[in-house]
Amino acid sequence: MTTSRRQFIQIVPIAGAALLASRTAFAADPMVDEKDPTAAALGYVADAARADKTKFKNFVAGSNCTTCQLYQGKPGAPSGPCPLFAGKQVAAKGWCSAWAKKA
Ligand code: SF4
Repeated sequence: MTTSRRQFIQIVPIAGAALLASRTAFAADPMVDEKDPTAAALGYVADAARADKTKFKNFVAGSNCTTCQLYQGKPGAPSGPCPLFAGKQVAAKGWCSAWAKKA
């Protein structure tokens, strides 16, 4: 067996394991903490019903992350990624002041 072939055979399982690990990490992304400085600044809440409507006049009744242009969660999923909170998940029922109606 040549060196390069042996190396290839050694690398494939490692690359596969790394890919699997990255997918697992994605699925296990932590939820955004409402007390996180970025979340607090944006008025993020895990339940849109608790949005500070006095402070954030742009709140639209019935809006939440699932109706936001930035939400990247799958339909029906309880949470999903949002580019404003890299590496974390926002609640589907959540809301923040950056909400923009999905087209
Ligand atoms: Fe939710 Fe949109 Fe705010 Fe992201 S930008 S947290 S998807 S309302």
